[in-house]
Amino acid sequence: MLKVGINGYGTIGKRVADAVAAQPDMTVVGVAKTQPNYEAHAAVRRGYPLYAAIPERAPLFSEAGLELAGAVDELVAEADIIVDATPSGIGAENRSLYESHDTPALLQGGESADVADVSFNARANFDAAEDADYARVVSCNTTGLSRVIAPLQEEYGVEKVRATLVRRGGDPGQNTRGPINDILPNPIHVPSHHGPDVKTIFTDLDIDTMGLKVPATLMHVHALNVTLDERVTAAHVQALLEQENRLYVIPEGMGIDGVGKLKNFALDAGRPRGDLWENCIWGESIGVRGRDLYLFQAIHQESDVVPENVDAIRAVMGLEPQDESMRLTDDTLGVGI
Ligand code: NAD
Repeated sequence: MLKVGINGYGTIGKRVADAVAAQPDMTVVGVAKTQPNYEAHAAVRRGYPLYAAIPERAPLFSEAGLELAGAVDELVAEADIIVDATPSGIGAENRSLYESHDTPALLQGGESADVADVSFNARANFDAAEDADYARVVSCNTTGLSRVIAPLQEEYGVEKVRATLVRRGGDPGQNTRGPINDILPNPIHVPSHHGPDVKTIFTDLDIDTMGLKVPATLMHVHALNVTLDERVTAAHVQALLEQENRLYVIPEGMGIDGVGKLKNFALDAGRPRGDLWENCIWGESIGVRGRDLYLFQAIHQESDVVPENVDAIRAVMGLEPQDESMRLTDDTLGVGI
């Protein structure tokens, strides 16, 4: 069993911990927390050994009635690999800690690409992580774009991608973010940084992106236009995308007209935390004009990178080839609608 440590147990870290715990070939040896808050209590209830991310704060944990297994340094020493899910920029600072123990690590999409040896998406470039010690699992938006671009590129060839990203203002717990009542071109500069981030996965891709932020917490929505190398039919594209386990093409007639109902759909299905690991593409939105393909997709920012982290662990550690890893991850988590 591969021993996985999780440093940073917030929105992404807690989901990755549960996903790792569900795998037959890996186990969670501990999670590191900065403070003894509700998430620390939840981690202990779930049976994960708790480590202090900031050793000087250890007494706060015992005062809160939480038993610590040690400090983060000991977790890094104990683990075969660390998943760093700390806030943007902290992962870069933590890399030297991992290096000092010769422990490989995954970093997340909030870090700049040069912090890691490789940027990772399971569908698009699994094998690129083979010789890496430090891999960056790209952001929720880049993951969502990469998953849909990969099959289009393989099947038809892609001349140019244009995407407008309507981004949630913050996650449900991020009550200091916004806007509360506005629609912000964000980033205001065009094209946005998202396109270059996708190019860390598809080096030669021609892609331009624009972003907005809206008063919503549930999901992002992408309006996507892809100029393909050949003329296709919408039905052919739909059939192609339906073959992908991490793409859910919402069938006509489901009555899912927005992300609110998508989240209800996930909750009704009994998904943990109402998570939607798959890109959710409205089947009715798939349209073709000549070589131009159009579609809308919704991306659950809190969870789409979770199966990618599990696969990145296997890729970096050389545990399983791409197909087997993705199948195992999807089967154990219940990915695929
Ligand atoms: P978060 O704020 O929800 O969780 C981060 C956790 O790390 C918190 O519990 C925080 O207390 C803890 N932390 C802070 N400093 C720490 C330190 N020095 N050592 C250990 N833990 C520390 O953040 P998140 O949303 O889970 O984001 C984590 C990373 O994942 C970021 O790079 C982010 O860009 C990326 N990401 C986030 C989302 C998203 O929508 N939430 C989606 C994809 C990728």
